[in-house]
Amino acid sequence: MATHWLEKNVPSSWLEAARNGDLAELRRRRTPEQYRAWYPAFADSGLVVPSWPTKYGGLGVSEEVAQVVNEVTSAVGLVRLNVIGLGLAGPTLLSLGSEEQRERFLLPLVRNDEIWCQLFSEPGAGSDLASLATRASREGDCWVLNGQKVWSSFAHEARFGLTLARTNPRLPKHKGITFFITDLNAPGVTVRPLRKMSGDSEFNEVFLDDVQVPDSNRVGDVGDGWRVALQTLSHERTMLSGAGSGMRDRTSGRSIERVLQLALAGAGQADSPWMEPGVRQRLATLWIEETVLRLTNLRASQARQRGEQAGAEGSIKKLFQSEHNQRLQECALDLLGARALAWHEDDNDAGRVVFGFLRSRGDTIAGGTSEIQRNVLGERILGLPKDPYDLRDVPWNELPR
Ligand SMILES: Cc1cc2nc3c(=O)[nH]c(=O)nc-3n(C[C@H](O)[C@H](O)[C@H](O)COP(=O)(O)OP(=O)(O)OC[C@H]3O[C@@H](n4cnc5c(N)ncnc54)[C@H](O)[C@@H]3O)c2cc1C
Repeated sequence: MATHWLEKNVPSSWLEAARNGDLAELRRRRTPEQYRAWYPAFADSGLVVPSWPTKYGGLGVSEEVAQVVNEVTSAVGLVRLNVIGLGLAGPTLLSLGSEEQRERFLLPLVRNDEIWCQLFSEPGAGSDLASLATRASREGDCWVLNGQKVWSSFAHEARFGLTLARTNPRLPKHKGITFFITDLNAPGVTVRPLRKMSGDSEFNEVFLDDVQVPDSNRVGDVGDGWRVALQTLSHERTMLSGAGSGMRDRTSGRSIERVLQLALAGAGQADSPWMEPGVRQRLATLWIEETVLRLTNLRASQARQRGEQAGAEGSIKKLFQSEHNQRLQECALDLLGARALAWHEDDNDAGRVVFGFLRSRGDTIAGGTSEIQRNVLGERILGLPKDPYDLRDVPWNELPR
């Protein structure tokens, strides 16, 4: 069904470039503006979120079938837009949002008509997210939010933000938090882009000054925001652990297939990197890691389908994927040799590899650092003792700062 839809609805010139594996040509034939204009047709087909119920834009199929659909659409270069909307906001609203919220937000989210971001981290609350200081006070039917968020990916394009705010500072830090949906067009929201070392501005600082959020945009009960946030963070780890890159290039760089193509270019010539056993060994290790990751993700998605809650194993996938991807992008960079230091402006491919390498450095920080994932694994899987400085029972307003 998916293949039939693709043949009928995707411009043939895009299909041709994608099937030839020529991403540079695909980018020439399909500008971001053209893709965004065409994208609602993709969304309306149900192929963007196949496992979601039909009334929210999906096809209502099992996770296993959805995975096959995703592979078919990815293979022809149909990337999904609104990653935080699809990966974090949608799943959180599907499981813990109200019916009214699902009806209001999910369809425009799938169509990329309304982009989402995640307003969790703050200058003083990253790894220790529960110590966050943004305040929300009740005023009639609204909440008034004041505070600062940081590292908010895509906030400069977003209409809505998943927001954590403190509604009771007298309770221990995990207990006085409430989860809201903030309209970034509301008065009092200021978004300031931050520049990354890769040169682009993917994330932002967001200032909230007396921003009004209607109570109908509260997700879960007052004071129960940490429980909702844990769900969002679990979806985030699933999203960041990928499903094996397949034909697709990653947000942070090249897929294993493309790195193999780079290595194979010029194979047979004496100076080809492919002729070096060390390079082949490295590529084989990366390919094995990729396969292990894909199978682990498959097992986790089958467990989800059986209704089992994702536990600490989400941290294994996130930790492994982010460190594996850094090794993969480093390998791609090494294969470029001197071209990675200076390249001709038409050499789009070299530019993308260097960008991917720089972007991948953030993988072990975003969504919880590798140190934090190791703490989680140490405590919950290996049964090691908890952090001796754990202040989880101290009221938030008495915490040392
Ligand atoms: C590319 C990218 C995109 C992001 N997008 C978003 C977003 O959209 N929304 C959002 O809310 N946030 C986002 N973040 C923020 C991210 O979640 C935080 O950067 C991350 O949780 C770490 O927090 P921090 O930067 O405050 O570092 P800190 O918490 O200050 O940590 C500094 C260092 O100390 C270590 N450390 C801290 N505590 C411990 C401990 N208990 N044990 C051992 N080591 C410890 C950390 O591992 C790290 O090395 C993004 C980050 C990146 C890099």
